[in-house]
Amino acid sequence: MQDAEFIRDTVKEMLSGLDTKTMQKIIGSANQYATIKKFPKMIQDYSDAQLDTWFKYIEKLHDMPIDYTQEEFANLDIIKKVESVMGEVEDITPGVKPASAITESVINNMEQQNKYRDDLKCPWCNEMVYDNRNNKKSEKSPDFVCSTNDAIKCSGHSGKWRKSWWLDNSDLPKEWNLDSE
Ligand SMILES: [Zn+2]
Repeated sequence: MQDAEFIRDTVKEMLSGLDTKTMQKIIGSANQYATIKKFPKMIQDYSDAQLDTWFKYIEKLHDMPIDYTQEEFANLDIIKKVESVMGEVEDITPGVKPASAITESVINNMEQQNKYRDDLKCPWCNEMVYDNRNNKKSEKSPDFVCSTNDAIKCSGHSGKWRKSWWLDNSDLPKEWNLDSE
C-alpha cells in the first residue's frame, strides 16, 4: 500500500512551477502510460517499482519540451508520447484511464493554488486589482482589492475603504471572466 500523501507531495514537488494545464497533461499521460503497462487501477496499489516507474515517467515528461514544444506534445497520441519518452512500447492496450482519486486530488489541489490572477484591472480607476483569494486574512476579507488607496483617483473608493469585491458580489467586472476559470 503506497502512501497517498507521499505521492501527492512528490508529484507537487516535481511539477512545481508548471501551469495547471501542463500538469494535467503530464499526470494524465502518466496514467495512460500506467494503463499501457497494466499497472493496478489504484495508484495506492502500485508496487514500489511501479510507483518508481510512474514517477520517472512524470519526471521525463517534465523535462520533455527539448524535442517537442508543449503544444506539439499535447497533440501527439499517447503511444507516440510514451515512445518518445520511454522508448518503444510493446503490448499496447488502447484506452484511456481516468485519473485515479489521488491524481485527481493533486490536480484539484494545484488548481486551488494556481487560482491567482495578476491581470485584473479596476473598472473605476483602471489600476491593478489584487487577487487575494489564496491569502485571505479572514473568511470575511474581500477576495479582490483595488490597488489605489485614494478616493480621488478611484471613484470606486468608499472614501474610507479601497474598492473591494467578494466572489458573490453582483458587481464583479464581467471582463475579468471569472466564470470561465
Ligand atoms: Zn480602483
